[in-house]
Amino acid sequence: MAVARVPLIAGNWKMNLDHQQAIAFVQKLHWALKEAKHLDGTVEVGLFPPFTDLRTVQTLLDADKIPFALGAQDLSTKDSGAYTGEVSGAFLKKLNCTYVIIGHSERREYHAETDEIVAAKVQAALRHGLVPVICVGETLEQREESGPTAISVGQLEVALEGVPASAEIVVAYEPVWAIGTGQVASPEQAQEVCAALRAVIAAKLGQDAADRTRVLYGGSVKSGNIASFMREPDVDGALVGGASLVVDEFAAIIRFQKHVGV
Ligand code: PEP
Repeated sequence: MAVARVPLIAGNWKMNLDHQQAIAFVQKLHWALKEAKHLDGTVEVGLFPPFTDLRTVQTLLDADKIPFALGAQDLSTKDSGAYTGEVSGAFLKKLNCTYVIIGHSERREYHAETDEIVAAKVQAALRHGLVPVICVGETLEQREESGPTAISVGQLEVALEGVPASAEIVVAYEPVWAIGTGQVASPEQAQEVCAALRAVIAAKLGQDAADRTRVLYGGSVKSGNIASFMREPDVDGALVGGASLVVDEFAAIIRFQKHVGV
């Protein structure tokens, strides 16, 4: 039986918008969506600002009762201690973060994060009651060598080691060749990999988990292409980078999701 999954539109700000710019951005986005009644629970909006913005954004969301979920872009594998520069999942939880992105291709590439580190971060997120947004995806060379699904499937299999069947997770398929390049995957390509990832979840965590877990597509998502992805049965939302920094564009993406606006 098909299970309804509330689509998640997640904005990964990366290293953009300081805490003052964040205030203006969140207020404008809320205004753009509030007027159009798009915050009625049929889509979940997640914001992933830099660490230094989290407290400010959390305070604003609370004060103005803005129904956006908050997430961080990374966390430490450790919980506390002498790890200079690291940020504990415990601190993120205390700031009311719901989500944390783990294994983004930029972390894998620029910070040498291996599949094993990603798996340890997933465990750290779950220890602190955070929902990991587990990113997987292949480079163009890997796609040519191993086909469209093998790399993502392998990355997810490692990330899910030791994850209990009851855990809430989100998975994001982000082909590296489509991130920030404007070279977007076709809806069919996204569907093929998202379906393969859902099969991994079913095999590792059971069919219930596969039915309820949201699998996102990420890579040059814009207001002009979001509807085509959301029509695919195994795409439950988007992880958006560049376009999440432009209020009108991000608001338009949020409007174009499964249950409203298409
Ligand atoms: C990302 O970095 O997660 C991403 C999808 O970026 P962009 O939307 O800019 O391709």
